[in-house]
Amino acid sequence: MTEKKNDCDSCAQKGSCKDQGDGKECAYKVDRMAKVKHKIIIASGKGGVGKSTVTVNLARALQMKGLRVGILDGDITGPDIPKLLGIEDEKLRQGPEGIEPAVAEGIKAASMALILTSRDTPVVWRGPMKMAAIKQFIQDVNWGDLDFLLVDMPPGTSDEPLSVVQLIPELAGAIIVTTPQDVALLDSRKAVNMVKAMKLPVLGIVENMSGLVCPHCGERISIFGSGGGERMAEEMDVPFLGAIPIDPSICTLGDRGETFVQSGSEAGGSFGKIVERLMEMFF
Ligand code: ADP
Repeated sequence: MTEKKNDCDSCAQKGSCKDQGDGKECAYKVDRMAKVKHKIIIASGKGGVGKSTVTVNLARALQMKGLRVGILDGDITGPDIPKLLGIEDEKLRQGPEGIEPAVAEGIKAASMALILTSRDTPVVWRGPMKMAAIKQFIQDVNWGDLDFLLVDMPPGTSDEPLSVVQLIPELAGAIIVTTPQDVALLDSRKAVNMVKAMKLPVLGIVENMSGLVCPHCGERISIFGSGGGERMAEEMDVPFLGAIPIDPSICTLGDRGETFVQSGSEAGGSFGKIVERLMEMFF
């Protein structure tokens, strides 16, 4: 239960809300997470493996199925979700029922990038301040009723992802994104063990950047190798959700704030299978 202290003196709504100081009508005293059916974290052992790309495309795929989806960008120092959603110029606003999330064609989002005045400003915060921001995204953002809240985690296995997990009640589980080369798999194994240690179900492994299909001859080139994610899933006794190839259009679409699930590419096709496997777990 994420109950918040009714601190009227420091509240932005002071004087204009219906609450009389007893907390009965306080818009902030509601349990936002109780209205979210499935909360999933998207984690990785290291940065740059495509965690945010998978988060945004998964959100779009679920939203295209008619589900209500939100993304909480838990990466405070590298908040890329708004850019990938094409809403980087938007800002979070204060509304009568809390902080209103930004909306990207039906997907709700809260991110540090939607608060900063300049996209080039670094967030040089220490751990407790970062956690306070994430806590606010969880407790004060007016997410409304959602089928899925996807949490794009800070990369790695430090105390940061650990703290984020502890802040979110009743998580359904974690998706671990990896790339196929040994050095990424080594870190991903740690991420799987971190999730297991937190007694959270590992919903599955996604192997991203799994080979490149040559646009000229159609031959598959294993730039970072392939199949390592599936082998790791088998060894660690967790589900393998599927592989996404390297596709230059993923990069260009992401830079334009568009998702590849809508693009009809090979990557879009392989991602469709990943979403189907995930859907089977929930419906
Ligand atoms: P992370 O969140 O793990 O740091 P990102 O999702 O930000 O990683 O991805 C890093 C970069 O790699 C982005 O520029 C993204 O567009 C690109 N990228 C991710 N997956 C693929 C892929 N399968 N093919 C080509 N580029 C990709």
